[in-house]
Amino acid sequence: MSDNKKPTVTTSQGYPIPYPFETQRVGEHGPLLLQDFNLIDSLAHFDRERIPERVVHAKGSGAYGYFEVTDDITDICGSAFLDTVGKKTKTFVRFSTVGGEAGSADAARDPRGFAIKFYTEEGNLDWVYNNTPVFFIRDPIKFPHFIHTQKRNPQTHLKDANMFWDYMTQNQESVHQFMVLFSDRGTPATFRNMNGYSGHTYKWSNKKGEWFYVQVHLITDQGIKNLNNEEAGKMSGENPDHAQEDLFNSIAKGDFPSWTVYIQVMTEAQAKELPFSVFDLTKVWSHKDFPLRRVGKLTLNENPQNYFAEVEQAAFSPSHTVPYQEASADPVLQSRLFSYPDTHRHRLGTNYAQIPVNCPYAKTFNPVIRDGPMCINGNYGAAPNYISTLENPVEYKTQSNFNYQANQETWQGPALPYHWKVGGDIDYAQARALYQNVLSKQPGQQRNLAHNIAVHVANAVPVIQDRVFDVFAKVDPKLSNDIKTELI
Ligand code: NDP
Repeated sequence: MSDNKKPTVTTSQGYPIPYPFETQRVGEHGPLLLQDFNLIDSLAHFDRERIPERVVHAKGSGAYGYFEVTDDITDICGSAFLDTVGKKTKTFVRFSTVGGEAGSADAARDPRGFAIKFYTEEGNLDWVYNNTPVFFIRDPIKFPHFIHTQKRNPQTHLKDANMFWDYMTQNQESVHQFMVLFSDRGTPATFRNMNGYSGHTYKWSNKKGEWFYVQVHLITDQGIKNLNNEEAGKMSGENPDHAQEDLFNSIAKGDFPSWTVYIQVMTEAQAKELPFSVFDLTKVWSHKDFPLRRVGKLTLNENPQNYFAEVEQAAFSPSHTVPYQEASADPVLQSRLFSYPDTHRHRLGTNYAQIPVNCPYAKTFNPVIRDGPMCINGNYGAAPNYISTLENPVEYKTQSNFNYQANQETWQGPALPYHWKVGGDIDYAQARALYQNVLSKQPGQQRNLAHNIAVHVANAVPVIQDRVFDVFAKVDPKLSNDIKTELI
C-alpha cells in the first residue's frame, strides 16, 4: 500500500495517534494517567469484544453468493425473486456445527446448519436449514432438554454418553435422525460436500391464491463426500477448522461451490392420506410419491471481508420471509419463529436488522419499529411514530396487490396440553428404509453405522447400552446385533 493510501491510526474519536504504543505516565516509569483516553478506550473496548456465542450453531463459516432461477415454478410460488427464469438474487450463507462451542472441531459428529439469506426485492428471506432432512424432536418443548444432552455434564463439564443415550432411548421418535447422524453423513468431509434440507414442511402459494405444502432440498453439485469415524477423529485433532479452511480457500481460488435447489410439493388432500402427520419433523416425504422438482441454483462466490461483522453477526430466522412463502403449523417450526429473533435480540440487540449483513436491500418502513440501542439507520427521520388508520394514503402506502390464500386450513379446538408420543412402528419405518433400502446399496455403510454407534455407546453404562440395543432392534435386529457384537 502506498503511503498516502495507508489509514492514519487515530483514537476511536478520530484524534490522530502518531505513536500507538505510547501511554501517558508520570515521568518515564511512573504510574499511568486517567486522562490517557486512547489507553483506557482501547482496554475498555477489548474487555467487551465478545458477544454471547450462539447456544447452538456457535461454530460457523459464511460466504456470499447468488441464487439463480433455472425453472419456472410460478404455479407453486408467487415470490418475486422466483418470478423469472434467469433472475439472480444475492445471498449470504452460514454453515455450522450445532452442539460444540465457537472453538470446537468442524469434523465433529453433529448435524450441520445450512442457513441462507436471500436479499430479495420483497425483503429478506431466510431458509434456516440443516444438512439432514429430519430432526430429533417434534415437540418444541423438548428442544432445550435434547440440546442439553448433547452438551456438557453440569458437574464434570465433559460430554456425556449417558446423558446422550439416556435421552435418545426414551424419546424414540429421534431414531431416524440418530440413524442419519451416526451414518457417515454425520461427519461430512466439507461444507461443500453436503446437502441442505428444509426438514420442515412450509406453505407456499401462487398468485391465484392456491397453496401447497413444500419441502426444499439443496443437493450439492460437488457430490456427497464424508469422513469415516476415524478420519473425523483424526481431522478434529489435526485441523479443527478444516471446513472453514476448505470453504474460504475454495472460494478464494475461484472454485465456487454450488447446490441445485429442488422442491417437493404436496397438496392438502395428499397430506390427509399420509400415514404420518405432514407436520412431523422426524419424517421425510418419499421421493417416489413426491418427486423432486428443480427450481434453481445456489452458488457461493465471495468470501466475507470480516468474520465477526459478517459471519458472527449474521442473524437468520425462519420468520424472516417474503410474500407467498410461510411457515406451516409444524410446532417445532412455529417455536423457531419466536426463538431465533429472540436470540438475535439477546446477542446483537434489538436493532440487529440494521447490521449490514442482516439489513434488507429492499426499502423498509415501519413507523413503530424505531429507537432502541444502536439505532444507526436514521430512524425514519421526521415520519410520525404511529399509524392511526390503515386508510392513511398520505403518509403510508399499504400493499394492495397481494392475493391471500384461498381455502385456508382452519384450526379450532380447546386449549389443551399435548405431547406427541411415539406412535408405533411408523416411527421406525423410515429409519428402517434408510438401513434396509439405502445403506444396503452403499458398500460398508451398514457396517460403519453400527461401528459409529458402538464406539459412542461404549462410553455409556451397561443399563443404557441395553436400551440402545432395544431401540435399534426395532429398526432392524441385524443393526442391533452388529452394535452389540462390536461392544463385546
Ligand atoms: P429413495 O431411495 O428415493 O431416497 C433415498 C435417499 O436417501 C437418497 O436419494 C439420498 O438423498 C439419501 N441417502 C443416500 N445415502 C444416504 C445416507 N448414507 N444417509 C442418509 N441419507 C442417504 O427413497 P425414499 O424417498 O423412500 O427414502 C428412503 C429413506 O432415505 C428415507 O427413509 C430417509 O431415511 C432417506 N432419505 C430420504 C430423503 C427424502 O427426501 N425422501 C432425503 C434423504 C434421505 P439425497 O438425494 O437427498 O442425498
